[in-house]
Amino acid sequence: MMRQFELVERVKSYDPDADEDMLNRAYVYAMRMHGSQKRASGDPYFSHPIEVAGILTGYKLDTASIVTALLHDIVEDTHASLDDVRKLFGEEVARLVDGVTKLARIQIQNIETKQAENFRKFVLAMSEDIRVLLVKLADRLHNMRTLHFIKDPAKRRTIAMETMEIYAPLAERIGMQEVKTELEDLAFSELHGEARTSIMTRLKFLELHGGDLVVKIMDELDQNIRKAGVLGYISGREKTPYSIWRKMQVKDVSFEQLADIMAFRVMVDTVEDCYRVLGIIHSAYPMVPGKFKDYLSTPKRNGYRSIHTTIIGPQRHRIEIQIRTHQMHEIAELGVAAHWRYKTADLFAEGARAVEGRQYSWLRELLDILEHAQNPQEFLEHTKLEMFHDQVFCFTPKGDLIALPRGASLVDFAYAVHTEVGNTCVGAKVNGRIVPLRTRLENGDQVEIVTSSAQKPAPEWEGFVVTGKARAHIRRRFRTEARTEYVKLGREILEKTFAKEGYELTEKGLSAAADKLDADTNEDLIARVGEGRLVGREVLIAVYPGARTAGDDKVVNLNQARLRHSAEASEAIPIKGLTAGMAMHLSDCCHPLPGDRIVGIATEGKGVEVHTIDCEQLEAFTDTPDRWLDLAWDLDRAKEAHVGRINLVVENAQGALGALATVIARNSGNITNLKFTKRSAEFFEIAVDIEVLGVKHLTNIIAALRATPAINSVERARG
Ligand code: MN
Repeated sequence: MMRQFELVERVKSYDPDADEDMLNRAYVYAMRMHGSQKRASGDPYFSHPIEVAGILTGYKLDTASIVTALLHDIVEDTHASLDDVRKLFGEEVARLVDGVTKLARIQIQNIETKQAENFRKFVLAMSEDIRVLLVKLADRLHNMRTLHFIKDPAKRRTIAMETMEIYAPLAERIGMQEVKTELEDLAFSELHGEARTSIMTRLKFLELHGGDLVVKIMDELDQNIRKAGVLGYISGREKTPYSIWRKMQVKDVSFEQLADIMAFRVMVDTVEDCYRVLGIIHSAYPMVPGKFKDYLSTPKRNGYRSIHTTIIGPQRHRIEIQIRTHQMHEIAELGVAAHWRYKTADLFAEGARAVEGRQYSWLRELLDILEHAQNPQEFLEHTKLEMFHDQVFCFTPKGDLIALPRGASLVDFAYAVHTEVGNTCVGAKVNGRIVPLRTRLENGDQVEIVTSSAQKPAPEWEGFVVTGKARAHIRRRFRTEARTEYVKLGREILEKTFAKEGYELTEKGLSAAADKLDADTNEDLIARVGEGRLVGREVLIAVYPGARTAGDDKVVNLNQARLRHSAEASEAIPIKGLTAGMAMHLSDCCHPLPGDRIVGIATEGKGVEVHTIDCEQLEAFTDTPDRWLDLAWDLDRAKEAHVGRINLVVENAQGALGALATVIARNSGNITNLKFTKRSAEFFEIAVDIEVLGVKHLTNIIAALRATPAINSVERARG
């Protein structure tokens, strides 16, 4: 375990301005808080944060990162709180510790490969500050180095899987090749220990029999390059067991060929030298077609730059060679952590241009920041990993991760879980709190959807869902619902029409009418009546051609029509079980209220428009008496709030509007809309929509308003 002064000295060696006092305090605090806690290895727990801090000094990270490493398990595993950390070490460290703590709370269970990318994005999105991710990766690296101490094999496996699927790829994504390779190798030995052992054995065997083949090949390459006058450093290495194993799986071959187990690298000073070395090698040895890759002119999306080629090299062995500059090499091995050691702007300008226009724009941002940052601290502070702006990542109660577009609501979430969950959702808990369905999700939200078999998708959901899936399902369900309502309404209309004229409605009669009127089925015919595309009389005459109906008497004026429909008709269709907004529409002109005498107008394709019997808009329907339907309120509906409209003339005087609002409120009315229709020096004319229980309620409000001094006149809107 690294001693306190050693740690401080290491940091001071690359950062003379490091906050020595804070480092010392953090070291002591971590030791004190973790106290007698033990690791699975039997070591004192505080050896872990100290090792993690040690790993990060290898990347020459700033004081805040090192202190965060020392404190990273404090909040989760000791009784210290984030506030304590803030008080003792300041806002910056507290923010970083909080970030690492949040990442630790992500319980990733049963990683499926298709979910892994989502988890990786989630970890990145949660990291926000790149230092959080760097501490997390170092933490994982140390945990993997000590994984074998954990006794429970299932637990070891879960951690190894998570490392393989999430953390090693993340290390690669931010360009930390060295960390990625070690994480992979450690996970590999846990997950496929036997495969790893046999590969190692085979490598030893080849080494014994091939002798110092690597050295011989390196020598020959070196001579060729020197002859051409280029100064280069050559290294040869065996590939890692995991990369050999993967290659064997993909290609289904054994690793007899050296190309599969050995890699050589030539490192030079400049980009020009890279291409010169390539020329030297390609003219000395035949290249293997299809293996050449130039990541110098086209870097990988993680910023990796190098030339790869495979040749039939010295002693006729197939070998792979990578050519790159020293700087590129360091960046490839250390990733973003290495970037800020180079402050030469031109290097980064080059890199920034090279990744321009790529899918992973966050890397471009990173490089942009690198280019403009004056010093490491500034770089780290500005490197907010604000990637995946366009997505939010949320969890189901079981811990499954759901990725949704930003702005997604709980209904989107419900549909993403399952279509039925979407169709029947009535409410939800987010992080344990009940919230409305329209609530927008935030990163890391834990969401529990409450469903009810009685629920149906509501048309207003369409106003706040953002995913295509949710929208499509809501529309589909709405269409089905509407159809059911149209059929119900159509049947009511037909029954009343037939009964009124003394005829009987039979399925057989309907079939005959369906034939004549070109409907596929009886239900189609009925639905058409409900939709207002056919009127009841047309069906009646199709069944009984000689039938005489009320519609035969042409209505001459509105009053006659009104009279005909204002009697308390037993034939009236109750607005019952029909959802307003689907087959029935309460019209916007007269705002019918429970208690009003009403009449329905069958409107083609829309079902029935409901008007008050004295609505002025009815004039337009006097020449189509067949479309008029007798309607009656269903008593149950009277319990719901309805919107009524009144027109007022109010004096343009101080307090007049206040009086208006007060009177309405005092009478338990709720103003939902208010519009000035005319304005003069003396008067306002105002239309007010009020939520009321029925016509009596509205009448009471009107009476109260009429008794108010500043209000000159009050009328119910008549369309
Ligand atoms: Mn830890």
